[in-house]
Amino acid sequence: MTEIPKSCDVVVIGGGPAGSSAATHLALAGIEVVLLERAVFPRNQVGESLIPHFWKFTDMTQVSEKIKQQGFLAKAGGVTVWNDKIHQIQFSDFGYTRPGLHIERDIFDDILLEHAISCGAKIFNQVAVKKVDFSDKNFPVISFIDKRNNCNNGGEIRCQYVIDASGHSSFLANQFKTRQTISSQLNFLSLWGYFKNSRYVGVDRQSHSESELENIKPVTFVMSFEAGWIWHIILRGKTSVGLIVPTSRTKGMDGQQRADFFKQTCETLPYLSKLLASAQFIDGSLQYRPDYSYYSNNICGENYYCIGDAAAFVDPVFSHGVQNAFYNAAVATLSIKESLKNKKHRLRYSQLCESRMQQFYGFSRALALGDFGSNGVNPGLVKNLIKSLPPLELELILVASEMTNRSDNFRQLAKEAGVLDKFKGKGSEWIETLNL
Ligand SMILES: Cc1cc2nc3c(=O)[nH]c(=O)nc-3n(C[C@H](O)[C@H](O)[C@H](O)COP(=O)(O)OP(=O)(O)OC[C@H]3O[C@@H](n4cnc5c(N)ncnc54)[C@H](O)[C@@H]3O)c2cc1C
Repeated sequence: MTEIPKSCDVVVIGGGPAGSSAATHLALAGIEVVLLERAVFPRNQVGESLIPHFWKFTDMTQVSEKIKQQGFLAKAGGVTVWNDKIHQIQFSDFGYTRPGLHIERDIFDDILLEHAISCGAKIFNQVAVKKVDFSDKNFPVISFIDKRNNCNNGGEIRCQYVIDASGHSSFLANQFKTRQTISSQLNFLSLWGYFKNSRYVGVDRQSHSESELENIKPVTFVMSFEAGWIWHIILRGKTSVGLIVPTSRTKGMDGQQRADFFKQTCETLPYLSKLLASAQFIDGSLQYRPDYSYYSNNICGENYYCIGDAAAFVDPVFSHGVQNAFYNAAVATLSIKESLKNKKHRLRYSQLCESRMQQFYGFSRALALGDFGSNGVNPGLVKNLIKSLPPLELELILVASEMTNRSDNFRQLAKEAGVLDKFKGKGSEWIETLNL
């Protein structure tokens, strides 16, 4: 069993997309990085739809080729039915030469973590972080429990910087007591599970059997209904289906009641029920995440950075989560690299980094939840980000913002930023009927 070092430059907590790509960025720069992950990989995770923006980040960490070789399903875009209005987007209309993907997250996250190891990061699975002691601000001390080989050994590691990439458990925000749940009418929870033999929506807007995947590319199918919205994401050999409903909707239900509610909803919704007509639910696959929209006002400090879901999380209707994790990893590690070279400016670097990460978070939140205000969103920062987007990326986002009734605030910000008038609506297609 490899011994966990007693000290290093940077400790990363958690080995999801945020943690593993942060570790890779640092290892590629020759920085000594140790990543502690409490789970055994591969481990399950939700978040299976990726928009093509993500490739620019995997190019930076030099892992794109490994992802490509895995043969994940390439998706052509999305079809949404929102308040009965049907809409389609195709990525190729926006100049993307590489596809979005439908990924099995256990495999995807494992590729990223193995890649971090191959780049020189020291990774330890089955090691759970319990506390970070910041009393010595130059050298925080991380206490952990090492559960490898059925042991339960306590240990400590000293470093200069801590990256919290612990996902929705938001390790540091909880330790600092800065994690806040969004106060909103859109306070949702999610229920998701897996089906075998579902039909899927193809890029030609028809439904197809799995055997046609080679010839007809799938799209992600999203639909609103009176209580919330659903996703339908075909994977290799199974299909992920999720419901997002107000927290109040399943209040007081036990596990069995939630499962019944999930299945009944799937059976009764238009379009979805047709796609699932001959499908079989995979018993035991139902999972549940309450309380999932949250943020913290304190995500970067002179010796710590909270990235990915550890920092904030927004309703996933626009599939921003993994991309956000990659973005945060890139900016946080840039800040750490500069801080290691020039320690006296490290507070300033961390403040700049916080501003960048809050900006991206505000952007996602304005797009997906709309009703921001006191929930940690700075409209000025979001406008600046909107203005700085490459033209085609902006065009895609503006098209996406038309698909739901969630993005009114975002469109208002885009208008104030002076970009809405230039919007051509290219690649945006409204459809009369969808015959599944
Ligand atoms: C219902 C739902 C649907 C979603 N759909 C999409 C989607 O379609 N597309 C998309 O891009 N995103 C989606 N997301 C978001 C996406 O899943 C997350 O944004 C993404 O997983 C964040 O990556 P991460 O690395 O920050 O966290 P995670 O992937 O959660 O990884 C965190 C890791 O930290 C480890 N950890 C936690 N605590 C400790 C500790 N104390 N010590 C050591 N290790 C620890 C965990 O075991 C875990 O492996 C969705 C999320 C939800 C809830």
